Order: sequence, then structure tokens, then C-alpha cells
Amino acid sequence: MKLNLRGLKLQALKEEIGKLDIPAFRADQIFSSVHGKLAGEIGLIKGLPKELQEYLSRFFAIETLEKILTTTSKDRTEKFLFGAGDTAGRNVKIESVLIKEEGRNTVCVSTQAGCNAGCEFCATGKMGLLRNLTAGEIVSQIYGIITETGIIPTNLVFMGMGEPFLNYAPLMDALEILTDKKGLAISSRKITVSTVGFAGRIKKFADDISSNPNLRNIKLALSLHSTDRGFRETLIPVSKKNTLPEIYDELVYFYRKTGNKVTYEYIYFEGLNDTDNDVKRLAKLQRMIPSNINIIPFHPVDFELKPPLEILNKKINEKIIHSKEKYLLNSKNLLDFIARLKKEKVIVNLRSSSGVDINAACGQLAVKN
Ligand code: SF4
Repeated sequence: MKLNLRGLKLQALKEEIGKLDIPAFRADQIFSSVHGKLAGEIGLIKGLPKELQEYLSRFFAIETLEKILTTTSKDRTEKFLFGAGDTAGRNVKIESVLIKEEGRNTVCVSTQAGCNAGCEFCATGKMGLLRNLTAGEIVSQIYGIITETGIIPTNLVFMGMGEPFLNYAPLMDALEILTDKKGLAISSRKITVSTVGFAGRIKKFADDISSNPNLRNIKLALSLHSTDRGFRETLIPVSKKNTLPEIYDELVYFYRKTGNKVTYEYIYFEGLNDTDNDVKRLAKLQRMIPSNINIIPFHPVDFELKPPLEILNKKINEKIIHSKEKYLLNSKNLLDFIARLKKEKVIVNLRSSSGVDINAACGQLAVKN
């Protein structure tokens, strides 16, 4: 079985070629070509004698993703459908998104094909988990987008398909590869990893990134969506076992260990998580550690939801037939909720609904496999 060079960190690559008696300096050359210049074949690795390329080809491969379809939104957001086949032949399709904004190009990266966290509002969750992606498949989404568009992303958000902390080791390997100075050298300040929150995982993540200078400034986003335990459990079933008090403790640990602010992702469910009590609890949360809240409009989905989301989904679907984004961002009640939060000195941003017309916005990624 050949090893995928795209999934090997520099240190791991050095160890692997060391076993073949290839000098360590070759690892730097190979890594730079594969991850910096995005060589898609061993024959394209610069500076290697032909015999060495042939020798390497016996043990290694460069596995790229199959480009299946690119869809472009009217706001220029692009959604990429990729085919991924692992060494066990388990072929899956995954999606990644490129969001183009003034001065920044953000890639939304997937870490799993499907997801078994089962969040009620999320199309990926309805797929169930097909399999975890390898580190090579995670980085290949970014490389595939660069190759197709010529755009090198300024920011990466691990908010695509899947729960990053349920595929932890490949996630961490991918982060090390992407931030390596000999590769794309993406600054850790420009990377955000998002989780619905698993007890023990946030602490481990804090320990792991704080002990690695290349990963030190990675930001954490918690998919919060409600500070009310009962409603949050309806939205995010795994929060029954990973309760808010436990998660809050881990966020405090994360901040103390890394010094990095935390972002709370908060889907706005009109009439369900925008009461005055919600505002008070969010204001209290903001005072716990330095943080900010991203409000995300609820992007309607085309599958059945449990009450009370079912009624809201229908209502929004009816209102937005002609201009989804315009309605979502201009909803009077949404703007009023934001104003009430600001009055309580909460740092709050309204996230745009980039790509909502091509089902590329938050909660909408899903493919038929
Ligand atoms: S929101 Fe994230 S964790 Fe929840 S089901 Fe969707 S992909 Fe999984």
C-alpha cells in the first residue's frame, strides 16, 4: 500500500524516507514541491534525480481529489464537489466552499464525509457519517481549489462537512501541513476550527496548539446556537452528553492556555433563541472570557425538521422564494436582536449568507453518495 505524500507532515515524511535510506534533505525538497508548489505527481517534484523519483513511486503516491462539479453563486461564492477514494476504496463525495469578500478569500473545509453528530438544522447531519477524511483529503480540498481558481486562500475555516473534533488526528496533521513554512505557510491567525463542543476535546486542542508555535494562534469557534440547555439539546443532540457548563469550563481553559479569543456561532432562530433572557445569558457569556458572537441567519433546508423548527423553516421558505439572502439579512427581528445584544455591550457580527442560493451556506452542505 502506497503512502499519500499529501497526508504526511514533514517530520513523518523524514521518518518514512529515512526507512528507505534516502537522505533527510530530500524530505524538505519533496515537501516543498508537494505542499508549496502543489505538485500533483511524483514526476513533477522539482530537483529529484529521475531514479529517485522512480524509487519513490514504488512506496508513495500523490493522491488528488477528483473534481466533479463547481457551482457559482450570484454573490461569487463557489462550491466544489469533490470525489475522494481512500486506500480501502471507500469512495465518497464531499463539498468545500470558496467565499470571496473584499480583501479576503476564505475556504470552508470539510473534515468528514457526512457527520453523525445529528444537528437538527444541518443537511450534513442528515447524511449520517460515511467516513472520516484523511489528512491528505483535507489538505487536497484547498489544493484543488487553488489549482482550479488560481486563488490562494487568505483564511481557512474548518466549518464544512463534519465535526472536526470527531476526526481529530487527521485534522491536526492537516493543520500542521497547511501552516508549515515549507508548504503553503498559512498563518495560524487566519485559521478557525469550529466545533459543537465535546468534553475533553477543547482542552486537548488547547494543549496541542499552545505547544506548537505554528498552530499557536488558531481560533476556536463554538457552535453555540442557544444558551438554553433544553433548546440546545433539540438543536444539537450530542449536547446532552456534553453539557454547556462542561463546555464553558473548557473554553475558559482554552483562553487561559492559548490567550486566543473564542467565537460563538449563533444561528438566529426567530422567536426561539432571541428572548430577553437569551440576550442576558449571551451578555454574561461574553464577560466570561474575551469573545465575540457571530449571528448567522437560519438557512432554510428542504428536509423535514422537528417542531418548533419545522414551522420556522416553512415560514422562511415561503418568504424567501425570490431573494433568500436579502430577506435573511434584513429581517427586522434579526436586526432588533442584534441591537439588543449591542446595548448589553456584546461584540456581535452578522455573518453574511454567502452562497445561500447554491446551498453552500452554513448548514446547507450535503451530497448524495
Ligand atoms: S453542524 Fe457540524 S457537527 Fe452538527 S451535524 Fe452538521 S456538520 Fe455535524
